[in-house]
Amino acid sequence: MSFHALPDVIFHPVHGDQHLVEGDLRAYMKVQSQLRASVTWRYRRQVQANVLFFDSVDWDSTIFNLHGGNLPGSLATSMSMCSSRAYRVKALHGMLPTAMRLCVTCPDLYHDDLCPHCLQVSESSEHLWQCSCSTGVVKEVIEEGTALFWKVVALPRKKSILSGTVIFPGPHSVYDAFQGLVPLEWTSILCGCGLSARKAQGVVRKVGRFFVSAAHDRVWRPRCEAQILHEQSLMITQKSKTSR
Ligand SMILES: [Zn+2]
Repeated sequence: MSFHALPDVIFHPVHGDQHLVEGDLRAYMKVQSQLRASVTWRYRRQVQANVLFFDSVDWDSTIFNLHGGNLPGSLATSMSMCSSRAYRVKALHGMLPTAMRLCVTCPDLYHDDLCPHCLQVSESSEHLWQCSCSTGVVKEVIEEGTALFWKVVALPRKKSILSGTVIFPGPHSVYDAFQGLVPLEWTSILCGCGLSARKAQGVVRKVGRFFVSAAHDRVWRPRCEAQILHEQSLMITQKSKTSR
């Protein structure tokens, strides 16, 4: 049978499960492109190696925040956008230049892999966020992030009860949020409090951005300042690092 034999049938684009696509087709294509970006990213080997509890990650929000809301395919770009995105990609992949990585990649320049901040242990990508020098800051960031999370829940009477409730019940920790992962449990918590899926999505993305930016400004940047002093003591210059 050919389609010409069915003149009264109107063909609609459908999802894989045969449900009709609702709403504007252009908006649908945009969502589809975002989904493709997130699916592609989540299956990258480096992401898989570095991210535990894969199925508990809100990948759409994670990728959205990774790109600063400016997804691939957009014509907008700038130096600062590229630089911020480079940091976020490295943080997510566990590829920030920690002392351990520097020692492996430039053994002629760096003679040990000690954390430049505490000078106690090797600086791995895990230690980077868990260094004893950052304990106080991390505690503050968790408190601020938790307050931001509950601030938007439109349940005034419950707010006082909820405001102390942890937002990392597991399996993800604040260190995962520092790396840019948006835990799926955040959406479950908010939807459980009566927020619509759309509103919950807005909240989790905002809170996710807060943790990434706080980790950059209050953990990574002070650590880099300590690293600069360490490099100066070893007479390592920008030129010696880039002329390799
Ligand atoms: Zn340390």
